[in-house]
Amino acid sequence: MDQGVGWNSSPLSAPSLRRFAQEIDDTRRRVVIGGTFYVLGWLLVAIFTPVHVHYPLATWLVSGYFVGLAIARVLLRPPPEVETARRLAWLNLQWVIIQASAGAWGAVLLWTLLDPVLLPARMALLVGTAGFATAIAHTYCMRFWASLVAISVMYVPGTMLMWMPGHDRAVAFTLTVYLGYVLSSLVRSHREYQNRLDGDEALRQQRDQFEHLSRTDWLTGLANRRHFVHALEAAIAQAGANVRPLALLVLDVDHFKTINDRHGHTVGDRCLAGFADQMRHVFAGREELCARLGGEEFAVLMPGFDETAAGARADAFRIGLAAATMVPELPELRLRVSIGVGGFDPARHQSADHFFGDVDRALYMAKAQGRDRVCAAAAEATDALASAGIVGPTRPGIC
Ligand code: GH3
Ligand code: MG
Ligand code: MG
Repeated sequence: MDQGVGWNSSPLSAPSLRRFAQEIDDTRRRVVIGGTFYVLGWLLVAIFTPVHVHYPLATWLVSGYFVGLAIARVLLRPPPEVETARRLAWLNLQWVIIQASAGAWGAVLLWTLLDPVLLPARMALLVGTAGFATAIAHTYCMRFWASLVAISVMYVPGTMLMWMPGHDRAVAFTLTVYLGYVLSSLVRSHREYQNRLDGDEALRQQRDQFEHLSRTDWLTGLANRRHFVHALEAAIAQAGANVRPLALLVLDVDHFKTINDRHGHTVGDRCLAGFADQMRHVFAGREELCARLGGEEFAVLMPGFDETAAGARADAFRIGLAAATMVPELPELRLRVSIGVGGFDPARHQSADHFFGDVDRALYMAKAQGRDRVCAAAAEATDALASAGIVGPTRPGIC
């Protein structure tokens, strides 16, 4: 039987953490009301028997005990999600409280069965105990063994007493048979609870997988156009708020149709996958996002980069690509790329579309000027890149 999360199981995997969070939520929701039933049960004994006349101190002590535990259940809240060890300690403490309540109730039942002063409450307590044990089996089914201990300490001593000579064996028999039902309910409820957690986890994993697929390009594994558009909008909102630079590259493989025509579509696909690997390798920054926009067109979102710095990185990519083998069986096959680069300027760009359009125009400038080069959207950036010693518009490089 599953006993939930153990003390030695840290650090927990993501699925285990999610199951643990679910168990904490369920336990919290269930323990807060549980304590009031013991208080009400004991109130019944205090009202319908003269216990307070014969044992005033014991009456107050038992009342204080049940009320104290009921309050502790409500006041002790689970620690925040990040504090796994403290949450585990909280969960174990809740089980101690559950068992302490159940054990004390078992003792009250024994007292009621043995002491004639409490005789008027005897039937009510027997029925109530059967009800409490059933409730534990259903409500606290998250942990099988801990729940079994709570049921046992509450139910077994009174049942055993009833089997003793001088007590009612018919009641003992009934209690024993009913205990079998309670235990089988516990087994079933525990299994159903674990199945529910398994089902929830499987659904969550499926949802995560679908979400990942909906954001990923199938051929290259890069972000797809849909994800890129969302990321561009988010990055622009952030850049606007933080006054932080943001650059964008739009890349298009040169004469890619010729590669398909000469070597076939499969080789073309392998070239696109190799191109994406090269992008991942060069634009590996934590915040950089590489995307395939469609066909042989790609983009890189570069938060924290201005147009000049991004242009220099783009040119390094272009040079590295020209030297890289895409398909080992065709070492002579090399890719060339034209790249448009632009920096986001809130004064000039009213929207993500407008910014993208600017950089796309720079890409077409690169194509128009002979391909295999980087063109900047802003003229000043072009000057800065040219003065950094990189070649001008008539030869491959930065235009
Ligand atoms: P340019 O330098 O002007 O960009 O020329 P190009 O040949 O690269 O551009 P064009 O738009 O004429 O052709 C793009 C080609 O890309 C045509 C299309 O068959 C090919 N293509 C688009 N998607 C895929 C794909 O997923 N796999 C393969 N193998 N080819 C693709
Ligand atoms: Mg092309
Ligand atoms: Mg194209």
